[in-house]
Amino acid sequence: MGKTAKEVAVLLATGVTTLLTCIVLAFVDLTTGFSLYGFSLWFIVPVGALLSGFAAASGCYLAGRWLNYKPTGTLLIGVLALSAMTFFLINYLDYYFTTVDGQQVREFVSFTDYLGIALSNMSLCVHGCVGGGIGLGPLGYVAAGLQVLGFFVGGASVYGYLSSLTYCTECARYFSSEKTEKRYFPEVAAAAQAHGEVLDLLRGGQFHAALARHAASGEGTRQRHFGAVSELRLHYCKNCLRRHIRVVLQQRAEGKNDWKAVPKTEAEFETGAQFYPSLVAS
Ligand SMILES: [Zn+2]
Repeated sequence: MGKTAKEVAVLLATGVTTLLTCIVLAFVDLTTGFSLYGFSLWFIVPVGALLSGFAAASGCYLAGRWLNYKPTGTLLIGVLALSAMTFFLINYLDYYFTTVDGQQVREFVSFTDYLGIALSNMSLCVHGCVGGGIGLGPLGYVAAGLQVLGFFVGGASVYGYLSSLTYCTECARYFSSEKTEKRYFPEVAAAAQAHGEVLDLLRGGQFHAALARHAASGEGTRQRHFGAVSELRLHYCKNCLRRHIRVVLQQRAEGKNDWKAVPKTEAEFETGAQFYPSLVAS
């Protein structure tokens, strides 16, 4: 399958999950009066729209992984366009199926008029939307804008996650996770020294030696007072057995359980094909 064909297939899959999400949301909305996608936190964080955006864009992730498609800017534009459409599609489904006194609303109001009325009569859902909420008036447009933003961010996050996955460009497929190794140290200085040695070996292309050095450094289990951890993530390509290695040194904030990456200790490397780190004694 060519790259363009994969792109079209991923976009189609995203279209399908977007449509399914809209149908489910509109169905819940119409049958219970509860707008899941309209739920927001502290009045401004559109949690419902964000989660709906994730669900709508899930097809992009699923098809992308399945087809080993590495996302491009074109896909991002497609995903964002579909995210924006989510808002209109849900409202259109609501419009199409809403009845008042046994008569269908669409028989006497156009969709644009319906949307205008719906937005200016939008209510704020503090503890769910059943039984109405606080009427927003013109602010309904702001709330709707926040919803569209929520759908956007949800869709963009799914795209961002797919793009962040490690990918073997030689074989045009995603790397699979092999293992994550964490080595703990009481002091940051000692950890930085050991981590630096591993980094030097990796930069010199001595991958086997680097993996062995990492496995032998620090301790395998963390004790309460320990303040640093050197992390090594290994991914492999199922096709060519190339390895993707990602390392980072993290430091714990004094007295807290708050870990942050130490600057300039994060790096990524790729080995040649047919690389067998499992042969390294660890
Ligand atoms: Zn490969």
